[in-house]
Amino acid sequence: MNVQNEMEMKAFLDDFAKKSYTEIFNIRSRLEQSEWERKALTNLRETIFQNKNKYPNTKNVLYIHIPFCVTRCDYCPYYTHPYNPMLVSEYLNALEKEILSIKDTPFIKSTVFSSLYFGGGTPSLLSVDHIKRLSEVIFNNFSFDIGAELSFESNPSTLTEEKIKTLRNCGFNRVSLGIQTFNDQLLKEMSCAHTSEKARSVINLLFEYGFIVNTDMIYGLIGQTENDLERDLHELCQCKAPHQVTLFPLRIAEHTPLGEELQKKEGITIQSHFNRLLEYDSLAEKILLANQFSREESPVFYYKEGSIPHKYSSTETRIVGLGAGAGTLLDEGEGCNYYDVREYISAVNENRSPALSGIRLTQQQAYERFVLYRILYMNRSSSDFRENLEKGFYEYYNTSLSNKIHLKVLSDMERMKFIKTTNEEIIFTDRLWRVLNKVKIGMPSII
Ligand code: SF4
Repeated sequence: MNVQNEMEMKAFLDDFAKKSYTEIFNIRSRLEQSEWERKALTNLRETIFQNKNKYPNTKNVLYIHIPFCVTRCDYCPYYTHPYNPMLVSEYLNALEKEILSIKDTPFIKSTVFSSLYFGGGTPSLLSVDHIKRLSEVIFNNFSFDIGAELSFESNPSTLTEEKIKTLRNCGFNRVSLGIQTFNDQLLKEMSCAHTSEKARSVINLLFEYGFIVNTDMIYGLIGQTENDLERDLHELCQCKAPHQVTLFPLRIAEHTPLGEELQKKEGITIQSHFNRLLEYDSLAEKILLANQFSREESPVFYYKEGSIPHKYSSTETRIVGLGAGAGTLLDEGEGCNYYDVREYISAVNENRSPALSGIRLTQQQAYERFVLYRILYMNRSSSDFRENLEKGFYEYYNTSLSNKIHLKVLSDMERMKFIKTTNEEIIFTDRLWRVLNKVKIGMPSII
């Protein structure tokens, strides 16, 4: 790098350190970063991991990304790769190498993880041998606390009884199952690989083996009626064992192929779709609350009486993410790995950093991120929103949230035209939705 580039890079980083987190969030929505920015910003592991974790026992999550899927579901916003056994083996070797490259760093050595989350993609398409080997490498090299939540994201089409038994023997205690709907016609139209019958039998098996089960459901699918949603939820309410339900609204963004196709073919606008989501959301809430479920947070999460809330939301955790596309979110910085599986494998095998991006954060910026994410992803209209925000902040940082930080985030969001505030109500703008769709932070979905 020549002197001029080095000076530009230093000026850029100095400038970054002065920005508010909301501005950084906006910058990160740019689709492409120039090469020099990328290089300047990829040193998280080399810096942060060389120091001890300042919060060694508070909400630390180890996230492992398995980016392969049997089929591509039509609504899926994630980067996934078609299943290919040779590539899966190469990928797992690279993942193991990435694990071994960080396991002895002061940061990892000082951290006791309270959660492990295998996400994807479809982790359940790994073979029994792969699950055993990867679990062994992880449990031999990272520390977990006794009550840790050990979750494995699964698709019913790939989860056999042998795999369920293996997961239990390896120590996993929670499975997050992508059901989406029990309507076979809708499953087929969305190109999902499973059927409702398979979904039912897998749920029953998981209860038999004593797992905490989370069922992921989608509402607002094109062609889905209120009756369909009601039937789906009533079926879940019949399950005897305590469990959790996560409801994902089908979000459609402007200027996306799906958004444009719907507008052209079906005359569905973003606004009319959004209004439909609100109606479905209150219908779902009515049914689940009447059936011993409690509502927790956004994306709308419920847990049945006798069950427990999911321990961690993506917005309130310290995450070390490993694997292609995995995001790392720490107080000192955040970043994510290459999305492209082959690019990720090459980087690891050539002993290069697998990071696509990464930025350092000041403590003030980390505090602002906490507040921003709560505003973005938690139920802002609930009367105890402010109280929960303060409580969550205290648990997370062991210090009180200053009013100044909260007001600063709100005023930054308003200045950047992310929100409009009317009569104490915070309304998201279309601009915010566009930015949310672009931000390349790699925040993993750990539901
Ligand atoms: S199984 Fe999940 S990750 Fe894979 S394509 Fe479908 S929705 Fe996306």
